Amino acid sequence: MVDAHIIDGKALAAKIKENIARKIATCPLKPNLAVILVGNDEASLIYDRSKQKAAQSVGMDCHIYHLDENVSERELIELISQLNNDHHVHGILVQLPLPKQINSLRILMHISPEKDVDGFNPYNIGLLQANSSQAIVPATPKGILYMLHSVYSDLTGKSAVIIGRSNIVGKPMTALLLNHNCTVTVVHSKTQNIEDVVKQADIVIAACGKPKMIKASWIKEGAFVVDVGINRIDGKICGDVDFDDVSKKAAYITPVPGGVGPMTIAMLLENTVAAFAQQNDLEI
Ligand code: NAP
Repeated sequence: MVDAHIIDGKALAAKIKENIARKIATCPLKPNLAVILVGNDEASLIYDRSKQKAAQSVGMDCHIYHLDENVSERELIELISQLNNDHHVHGILVQLPLPKQINSLRILMHISPEKDVDGFNPYNIGLLQANSSQAIVPATPKGILYMLHSVYSDLTGKSAVIIGRSNIVGKPMTALLLNHNCTVTVVHSKTQNIEDVVKQADIVIAACGKPKMIKASWIKEGAFVVDVGINRIDGKICGDVDFDDVSKKAAYITPVPGGVGPMTIAMLLENTVAAFAQQNDLEI
């Protein structure tokens, strides 16, 4: 039996994409997204193709620059510089993780902040920390905020626990929720009594990459549980939350698949359109 209200990320994302497509249709120019993929990681390849498909479906141009696994840091930086200087390119993202010979932070620092549609350049990270409206906010946390706002118009005073402290999910999510007046606690693999901490939360964001780790016994009655995880058990995709168990206790829950994943892609498109508008001095 499922009691929680399921937040349909796929449906929300479809509406956002419709809206973006309408905006682009009114423009004389098309936004153009450059995706850089290094190596042959199957999951990254599938993910980048789905970003490209989504971008094209709303009327954007999107090219995947697929580089060899052994590419040097210098060659990768040269490509980024070319794209930075190309007025026809409005958004640049580098698919992570990168191979060992490449320092990811150094690469991200080379993406021009106004084209950094993933929001991983330290300049945009700093703007987000400073609660600046100029920040390009990373797509996954931005999509999660959108889902929370689909239920709560105001997050002020809510206690949020984020499970995971990665640079791409946990840390920017922490800043974003603080900026929205939540009381935020971050837990990670070294946290003690994690269940007791999670039990205090009005909002739980699970981003630890551990299949079905979060159980109903960890959840406060009435909580909003967001599942970021993408894991596979016997070839089947599941999240970090034990959905069947937790949905009996939580008030709201996001499913996997069909929750945070589609919202992440929709927010990437939104960031790209915003970057395009800003670079061309357009109000769309
Ligand atoms: P990550 O870089 O591997 O970080 C995982 C975080 O979880 C780390 O901070 C780690 O702690 C913490 N952790 C690991 N085991 C834990 C445990 N037993 N208890 C508490 N914390 C634990 O992962 P990520 O990139 O943030 O991604 C997290 C998950 O979200 C993955 O399944 C990923 O595939 C998925 N994801 C989905 C989307 C989407 O669009 N839906 C986007 C991004 C990521 P330490 O720091 O102590 O190691």
